[in-house]
Amino acid sequence: MAERQLVIFDFDWSMADQDTDRWIFEVHAPDIRRKMEDLESSVQWTDLMAQSLREGHERGMTRQDIEHALKVIPYHPAMIRAVTNLKSRGKTTFLCLSNANSVFISTILKEKSLDTLFQEIVTNPAEWDESGLLKLRRRIDPDGPQHNCKIGCGPNMCKGEELDAFLARDGNGYDRMIYVGDGSNDFCPSLHLRSQDILCCRTFGGLPKRIARDGEKFGLKCQVKYWTGAWELEEIFNTL
Ligand SMILES: [Mg+2]
Repeated sequence: MAERQLVIFDFDWSMADQDTDRWIFEVHAPDIRRKMEDLESSVQWTDLMAQSLREGHERGMTRQDIEHALKVIPYHPAMIRAVTNLKSRGKTTFLCLSNANSVFISTILKEKSLDTLFQEIVTNPAEWDESGLLKLRRRIDPDGPQHNCKIGCGPNMCKGEELDAFLARDGNGYDRMIYVGDGSNDFCPSLHLRSQDILCCRTFGGLPKRIARDGEKFGLKCQVKYWTGAWELEEIFNTL
């Protein structure tokens, strides 16, 4: 039994059953959603999201509209049970590593009464201005020094470096780490897990494909458990 454990959560399609960035436009401006799809290969995603938020704001998409969309985002009741029960057993610290943004994540967690779940939320910074525009920036300033990731993280942040930085400033050391993710950008931090750690990989998304292609090549050391619905992640959490 692990005495001290760290659970690290990706957010989109891991904690929430949707992608927050795409979802708010699917609810309020599907044409902007389509435009993002068309531009995704040529514009960095966080920059594209910031630009799309400005475009939505210019045509009257309000803070209330966005907050409403976030509050009704698909979110499995088993996910709430899984994290609440695990936290209540007392030996687990929770960390969020996400390419969404601070406002989306905090709005959703508050709606689910999970606003005290995470010790830290590491993500892109965002804030509302007085006009109701959500101003979003990359976590790593494009004009400053960039990260050195060679595994495939986007320029806005490297989740592997962020995990190491958290462990260094937290200073506790954990007997076991459990990482929950679905996307290709969750592959890099997975390589930082040790043999006693567990990767809870969603069966769809870029992560399972990346593990199949590159897991052995890049020396993935941890145990991998696959889940599709949050009720299955809850089963895994009940064993921790
Ligand atoms: Mg994700």
